[in-house]
Amino acid sequence: MADDALRITVLGSATPYPRPGNPCSGYLVEGGGARVWVDAGSGSLGELQRHTGLGELDAVWISHLHADHSADLLTAYYGLRHADIRRDAPLPLYGPPGIADRIAGFLTNGPLRSPVEEAFAVEELHDGHEARVGALTLRSRSVEHGGLPAFALRVEDPEGRRIAYSGDCEPCPALTELARDCELFVCEADGDLPGHHSAPQAGRSAAEAGAGRLVVTHVGPGTAPAQAVEEAAGTFGDEVAYAAPGRVFAVTRRSRTPGRTTPSPASSR
Ligand SMILES: [Zn+2]
Repeated sequence: MADDALRITVLGSATPYPRPGNPCSGYLVEGGGARVWVDAGSGSLGELQRHTGLGELDAVWISHLHADHSADLLTAYYGLRHADIRRDAPLPLYGPPGIADRIAGFLTNGPLRSPVEEAFAVEELHDGHEARVGALTLRSRSVEHGGLPAFALRVEDPEGRRIAYSGDCEPCPALTELARDCELFVCEADGDLPGHHSAPQAGRSAAEAGAGRLVVTHVGPGTAPAQAVEEAAGTFGDEVAYAAPGRVFAVTRRSRTPGRTTPSPASSR
């Protein structure tokens, strides 16, 4: 894998609770000299440390505040405040409105609110939010997930290579717009449920967006990963991969034309 690739490592993709060897939703996105922890589902902090540490991260980005996407922020707080992690400044944390109070609501044990802001530099997301992390541009769109604040993400590196991530949501125009022509699209396929994508819907969203490659993740307990891959491939019209924990998906080249592209082959740990 080229060192300058834009890449996403699957820390975990289980839902709605972690399994042996598979934490809940968590990913490490690396590129342009930056490292971003994307979603902090239960168990993902442990897996993160196979690749990097809380002291080396440049930012955390959280799609929504369900526990299977955010619970490890609680233990990350203890790491940042009370352990051997040394940082010059609080860790930038991008997340839905109210995220700091939600974390504090769990952590606070006495009359004084736990100082979440001493661990995290919190910036709340809004539809169309953009942030620069190192040389990466993070763009967030508000998406449909049962009416609660929820966001999808597109990461772009200085070469113009893009990875899009659905978070949890049902098919919606904001997601299609965000994932437009991206080289790699990581889309949830929890099942045929309100606020989620089924596997065939994930394939359709990827096809509509003109994504180069589709990875299905967050496959619900009712569907075997191989079945989800097959169903998504049927509507995508091309090969689909599964976000097995530990897999790394890299984009080494920018697509020259919209539509199908040729990102580098995925490699496994
Ligand atoms: Zn979820």
